[in-house]
Amino acid sequence: MIEGRCLCGAVRLRVAEHETRVEACHCRMCQRWSGGLFLSLSGKPEGFHAEGPVVRHQSSEFAERAFCGTCGSHLWMRDTDREDADYELMPGLFDDARGFPLRSEIYTDRALACVSLAGDHARATRAEYEVKNAHLTGDLP
Ligand SMILES: [Zn+2]
Ligand SMILES: [Zn+2]
Repeated sequence: MIEGRCLCGAVRLRVAEHETRVEACHCRMCQRWSGGLFLSLSGKPEGFHAEGPVVRHQSSEFAERAFCGTCGSHLWMRDTDREDADYELMPGLFDDARGFPLRSEIYTDRALACVSLAGDHARATRAEYEVKNAHLTGDLP
């Protein structure tokens, strides 16, 4: 179980079941939303608890992105086309995520030139990722 909060503290999160490795995405939507690099930590909906002024933005036909309505801290991205979808949480909200290593990096060919992630984690370009996730056409030109 991990607990986290946004910058202002108005939103509190509790996640019972979660990954212990972080994923990175360089797609244009994630770049716009995050400001550069999108990092996420998967958490199961069972035992997930959020309280406070959570605002949900439907960012594509199949996913929402949530943020704190007071301070604007990003909270999660989640598929909205199925009930059992995991929460893709911002690892920086959780003190315990500080030591979690990177698991994978996608849309590597879209990465900002200033962002280079070292290590031997899995990597996929936009084409490599979308061929395995045919429903995803949410990336912007
Ligand atoms: Zn806040
Ligand atoms: Zn993305």
